[in-house]
Amino acid sequence: MKIKLGLFSNVSPCSKGVLLQIFFNALLLISPFIVTQVTAPLRDTPGVTFCVYCQKNVLTRTSFEIGAMAWVFCGGITLLGCWLCMCIPFCLDSCKDVKHYCPSCNNLLYFYRRM
Ligand SMILES: [Zn+2]
Repeated sequence: MKIKLGLFSNVSPCSKGVLLQIFFNALLLISPFIVTQVTAPLRDTPGVTFCVYCQKNVLTRTSFEIGAMAWVFCGGITLLGCWLCMCIPFCLDSCKDVKHYCPSCNNLLYFYRRM
């Protein structure tokens, strides 16, 4: 297979590989860099995230609120006939939804719904 490189068509195959490498390295240098920040997803514990209001990284403050999962467990327990235990899901943080607030500006940053 013969590779045509326009101006470099009469260069040996070994040199063509080197030229291609130089070309792609130069392409990487002139292309704009995309900076992304990868953080762990926010769930039921405080996590580090970027506050769009403060424009800085913060460790979120969490607040638990009764959500759909607590109601579903309550209904399930009630259907099973355990009337005394039906309010337990409303007392467990592991059944509640979680709101993540910025500790600096107190704005809501993320709402983690379990269902
Ligand atoms: Zn903030």
